[in-house]
Amino acid sequence: MSVLDAIPAPSSRRLAAKVTNDAIRQIRGGHPWVFDGSIVSVAGGSGSGGSGSGGSGAGGGAAGDLAVVFDNDRQFVAIGLYDPTSPIRIRILHQGKPTTIDGAWWSTKIAAAIERRKPVLSAGDTTGYRVIHGENDGLSGLVLDRYADTYVLKLYTAAWLPYLQTLLPILEEQLHPTTIVVRFSRDVAGQQLFGLREGAALIGEAPTEPVLFREHGLTFESDVLHGQKTGHFLDQRDNRSKVRPLAKGGRVLDLFSCTGGFSVSAAAGGAASVHSVDLSSAALETATRNMQHNAFIKNIQQCKHTTQAADAFEVMQTYGKQERKFDMVIVDPPSFARKNADHDRALHAYRRLTRLALDLVVDGGILVQSSCSSRVTTDEFYDGVHAAAASTDHRISEMLRTGHAADHPIGFAEGAYLKTIFVRVHDRPINRHL
Ligand code: SAH
Repeated sequence: MSVLDAIPAPSSRRLAAKVTNDAIRQIRGGHPWVFDGSIVSVAGGSGSGGSGSGGSGAGGGAAGDLAVVFDNDRQFVAIGLYDPTSPIRIRILHQGKPTTIDGAWWSTKIAAAIERRKPVLSAGDTTGYRVIHGENDGLSGLVLDRYADTYVLKLYTAAWLPYLQTLLPILEEQLHPTTIVVRFSRDVAGQQLFGLREGAALIGEAPTEPVLFREHGLTFESDVLHGQKTGHFLDQRDNRSKVRPLAKGGRVLDLFSCTGGFSVSAAAGGAASVHSVDLSSAALETATRNMQHNAFIKNIQQCKHTTQAADAFEVMQTYGKQERKFDMVIVDPPSFARKNADHDRALHAYRRLTRLALDLVVDGGILVQSSCSSRVTTDEFYDGVHAAAASTDHRISEMLRTGHAADHPIGFAEGAYLKTIFVRVHDRPINRHL
């Protein structure tokens, strides 16, 4: 008896989708999403006489059906996974010449994703990284993160469920995992999951405690069953290692610290003190344990680590009034723009954070600020940091801009979400106008 037994096998039917000309252009340009508003018609689903797997067909097919997109001349454009419940109605798997999506096809895709991660492994002593980054690896809506021998498969659409029986042996063969647990995005969690529970082990046993893994030689734990994302913000790994040498001897303030990835790295780099601030006290408890996991490192032993469960904006305001200063301030907030409508508010929030943070940095200190909102462009973010700084009593000079590490490749415009800027902060001479 397997946890997958109740999930229907992939349907042999193919849906035929007609989409707008604009959507065809986007697909041919490599875009992996076809939104519900771009669908002209879908034929061949259970609602139009088809038979096969169960699922919640909305007249046009069930989650996981393969949909073939045709152009106006009835020529093949692309094939993708259909999901009648999602605004992303079709997730393109392949475009160009007709192809068969079978075991060999999945196997090639997964092997290519694994190959792409070789630079992460050769950079040394890292066992926590993203193995499959959804659409950026051609597998839209499917993420696989590795924490040592435990893997977390996170699904952003129920369309993947019928394929798990096929994918698991491939993952087993190529990765030799001890354990794979499954997690669902918020949208998927409330859907028909055929008895499959969040956190269920698809291979091996679900861990009963957090899993230890390595990141650039430091040990961290990941709560793969309950932690945010899949238990750790893997995308900031290389920025954390860049913070390390810059933190030496300094007082570091890590805002939106979550489980302390930046905090531990700064401490390992020789920070005199690190203060971690996050709304989540559970995340801060993990941050404290993450320090302890590395307590054999002399720098970490000698670093004074404190935590504060609080709103980062309020903390910054309070410290500003108290004229508390740090040698390095790290600002890594959650995405402020989950919808297009949030875009301007997000820009405003980033600028506010820059202004508040600059007031906390000593003359000659460092600000590290990130944005993970894909709706805020790289230029908007960097320009925003500079514009905000210009409105303060501080002058900044850029040290570094960074983007994505090798395990978070960028496969399409929305895939480019992470931007980080490292700046040196100087007080402006008070008599600058004289
Ligand atoms: N820097 C972290 C990742 C940060 S993710 C790392 O390297 O792992 C964003 C974090 O911001 C989450 O942990 C979330 O709990 C926290 N958060 C969200 N809103 C907040 C707020 N207003 N004040 C403080 N923390 C907040």
